[in-house]
Amino acid sequence: MIDFTLKEGFNRSACPICYTIEEQMHDFLFWFEREGYHEYSSIKSLFEHSCICSRHKKQILNLKDKLNNTFELLIEMEEKELKELMKTRSPKRKAKEIEKNCRFCIEERRIEEHAIETFVKSKELIEDYLNSRSLLCKKHTLLIIENLDKKETAQKILKKALHKLDVVHKKIGLYFKKIDYQSKEKPEEDELNAYLDAIKFFSNL
Ligand SMILES: [Zn+2]
Ligand SMILES: [Zn+2]
Repeated sequence: MIDFTLKEGFNRSACPICYTIEEQMHDFLFWFEREGYHEYSSIKSLFEHSCICSRHKKQILNLKDKLNNTFELLIEMEEKELKELMKTRSPKRKAKEIEKNCRFCIEERRIEEHAIETFVKSKELIEDYLNSRSLLCKKHTLLIIENLDKKETAQKILKKALHKLDVVHKKIGLYFKKIDYQSKEKPEEDELNAYLDAIKFFSNL
């Protein structure tokens, strides 16, 4: 299943691992909405990581009043814990831990680890990636390199990144040349937008 999503990601100009995380998170939220909130284990795991980061808050707010189902049970559990805290004054979890513990970020990390593991173990996927138009973002280039056994494969991945960055670098060079007042040419569309390709490399989820 994850192989299929990775391969779909190779047909895009952005990072195939980021694409896989986005797609699988979309599925996760789909099921979270449809059945997750009925299910005790899903609510329990949300309670155990009871923080929703600002990025995921935006996404789950789209589930609207269906979230009443989720929060009915979640609030019940939270009330129990707070009553306990009134007696003991020693919280089970420290505030700092809660901050890092968004249930949805944890799911994203799980997908990311799975995608990277699948990628580095498959010769076919690596080959497909090397021949594709996609480019791993900086974070995922580094994570893939760290997890690859073979030095030669790591070098091929880096070579591809260097080649793509060189193309962007040259486009930016042409852009500056053409905006010079002495230039007779105007920058082409892809030279004007060269920074967009740079952003794809430097940003990640
Ligand atoms: Zn990425
Ligand atoms: Zn999050």
